[in-house]
Order: sequence, then C-alpha cells, then structure tokens
Amino acid sequence: MKDEMILQVQNLHKSFGDHEVLKDINLDVHKGEVMSIIGASGSGKSTLLRNINLLEQPTGGDILFHEKSILSDDFDVTLYRAKVGMVFQSFNLFNNLNVLQNVMVGQTTVLKRDAAAAKTHAMELLERVGMAPYVNAKPDQLSGGQQQRVAIARAEAMDPEVLLFDEPTSALDPEMVDEVLNTMSSLAHTGLTMIIVTHEMQFARDVSDVVCFMNDGVLAETGTPEQIFEHPQEQRTQEFLKRYL
Ligand code: ADP
Ligand code: MG
Repeated sequence: MKDEMILQVQNLHKSFGDHEVLKDINLDVHKGEVMSIIGASGSGKSTLLRNINLLEQPTGGDILFHEKSILSDDFDVTLYRAKVGMVFQSFNLFNNLNVLQNVMVGQTTVLKRDAAAAKTHAMELLERVGMAPYVNAKPDQLSGGQQQRVAIARAEAMDPEVLLFDEPTSALDPEMVDEVLNTMSSLAHTGLTMIIVTHEMQFARDVSDVVCFMNDGVLAETGTPEQIFEHPQEQRTQEFLKRYL
C-alpha cells in the first residue's frame, strides 16, 4: 500500500516577519513510508514539521492529509494532531502526571476512550518500550532516554497514522541514544508512517525509505538513502554530508 498518499506538502511557504524560513516546499508522503529529513541547524527542519502539525500556520501553499486541506476552516485540528502525532527533542511530557497518566490522558480526553481501555492500551505500549516498571514515576524521576520512550508510547497511544519526530535523540546523553533509536526502528518495522528530523546519519540510512536534505529553507535533494548518502547529486548535499559521515 506504499502508493497511497497520506500527506502532501504543496508549495509551502513560511515566513516570520520578513524572514522567509520555508521556500516553496513540495513533499509527498506515502502510507507506510519512513522519511528522514537531514540538514544543517537553522535550515528550517523544525519549522517544516511544526507546519505539518499545525503548531505553526503556513504563510503560503497547502498541506493535504488524505487529499483534504488541513488549512480549511472546518478541519478538526485536535483530531488531526492525534492522527499526526509529534515527538519533540525536549520530550514535552506532562510533569504533573505520572508515566501511566501521560500515556492515558490523550486517549480519554481526545479519543473519548474509557479509562479501563485507555489503561490497557497504555500498558501494552509501555511494555513494548520497556517502561512498564515505571508507571507510577513522574517524568522528572526518569532519565532522558526513558522520558523519550514514554513520549513515544504516548504518541502511539493515539493510534496515529503518522508520527513526526523532531531530533528525538539530540537532547540525550550519548549512552541513551541507542535505546530511543531502537524503539523507533521497531516502530518503523510496524509499517507506521514516520517523518524523522535527525542528525543520526547511520540511523537515517538504515531505517528510511526516503531521505530529504534541507538547505536554507529549500528541499535541496530527495532520494533513497543510497542515492543521498552514496551518490548525492547536489554540491550542497555533498558538503553537508562531508561534515557528518
Ligand atoms: P532547524 O530545525 O533546521 O534547525 P528551524 O526550523 O528551527 O531550523 O529554524 C529555521 C529558521 O527559522 C531559523 O533562522 C530560526 O531562527 C527561524 N525561526 C524558527 N522559528 C521561529 C519563530 N517562531 N520566530 C522567528 N523565527 C523563527
Ligand atoms: Mg530543529
């Protein structure tokens, strides 16, 4: 089913004042695809994800989810954010809630699941990310890697169709990076559609179907991992990779 289009970014522009941060971005994401977005700091990667998730309002162009504009007036943004979840660099867990509550709360409030069903689902997901022993812990009692695994379980708990990851390992101590990358690899193998902003080039090469290189607000080059990492066509892609590989 990889031909089914799930997200389409069309001629997307985003400016902050007179600073144009995204310049005519076009991107198709197919169901089940794992897409990595690489590029230097400040190139617009986070802004692109934040527009896709409507945390920022595009200043031009359109974004279609199942061929329907997410910018139309009657679009249900709350439900959309459940379907297109986001995992942040800084985890963004609810610090006043424990681990179990963090993974239940969206299910009960947004999806209107009853507490028992939400708990069962939460426990399954926490089990899968290895966080079931920590259900009663508060986020600040956990390591960064543990918090990020809870954040991934929380996003999964909404039965998302797409998960967006914004540098999910770059705030972690090095010894915790692998536990989060391994969790993401297993997710990728479930057939979930994922868009991952990352500086972990080996990971991007291993898990992605498509790699996009962003440079100064422009999607400079898109291809398979082999095309981007072994045979980059653009000089700016080659120069960027030289610094990372
Ligand atoms: P990346 O994630 O690739 O590092 P960002 O999307 O965070 O890049 O930022 C791209 C550019 O947009 C940067 O120059 C940044 O300063 C600017 N920018 C991002 N968010 C805002 C904002 N809310 N207001 C003003 N400028 C912003
Ligand atoms: Mg960023």
